[in-house]
Amino acid sequence: MPELPEVETVVRGLRDVIPGRRIRRGRLSAPDLYHTGSRRLGWIDGARVVSVDRIGKAILFTLDSPAGARALVVHLGMTGRFVVPQAQGGARVFQGDEISSPGVGAGEMASIGRHCHARLRFEDGGELWYVDPRRFGYFYLAPLDGVRESLGIGPDPFEMRPRRMRALFEGRTAPIKSLLLNQKVIAGLGNIYVDEVLYRTGLHPLTPAGRLCEDAAGLLEASRRILRSAIRFRGTTLRDYRDAAGRRGGYQQRLLVYGREGEACGKCDGEIRKIVVGGRGTHFCPACQPRRGRPAARR
Ligand SMILES: [Zn+2]
Repeated sequence: MPELPEVETVVRGLRDVIPGRRIRRGRLSAPDLYHTGSRRLGWIDGARVVSVDRIGKAILFTLDSPAGARALVVHLGMTGRFVVPQAQGGARVFQGDEISSPGVGAGEMASIGRHCHARLRFEDGGELWYVDPRRFGYFYLAPLDGVRESLGIGPDPFEMRPRRMRALFEGRTAPIKSLLLNQKVIAGLGNIYVDEVLYRTGLHPLTPAGRLCEDAAGLLEASRRILRSAIRFRGTTLRDYRDAAGRRGGYQQRLLVYGREGEACGKCDGEIRKIVVGGRGTHFCPACQPRRGRPAARR
């Protein structure tokens, strides 16, 4: 599932090729992915794409349409991606869960065609496709100033100060892992990066969030550092990695705990363990991330 860095990577890619273009016609072949159930994207015809941005893990196309300013909001779900077919054949793929390549072959094009659920045709003849094999993604139109409300998400780590983060923790009994995953509270962090953040801050994933008010600033800083690094790393790898079978981002090699259960901890002699917190597989080092407030653990 694409997390903030992957969505940011997709947004940066689209930003190079989409803004400024006017849409001649929008066509939707999978109405179930469109929240209001409309079969046609009629409202989008004639609109100019002003900008492409990220809000949490969603993508926001700001449109200057004949009906006024509008937002086209797209959530990539598990396997959503954008495809720009190239005039000379093949396509550019912008996606979050796998590494994309600068051009795709005929076999991949056939698969893309099968899973293409929406197409925007621009005045200049080019097109933008939304492709989603597993169909967990969705999109909808919203008033420009109500997008965050329509998504029901909190600020992401780049949008808040330590004091806000601390306030979000106060009085919460939920495990810190669950709270950081709760998009309504803090947007953008997913299972992989939460595990990395907690490891690097030495916090046990089951610690009640309310006990970590003093750690809020450190957690925020670690979240930003890890997300920034992941964005940077993925961005570099996107251009040259071409293994179609590998569902691995460039940051995969940088992960210190996620997916490393049974391996040696990089900081101590201990071993990375995996537990389940709130239904999610959670990786941590019991020695580097001890439970707090439990005398037995302090021996
Ligand atoms: Zn350790």
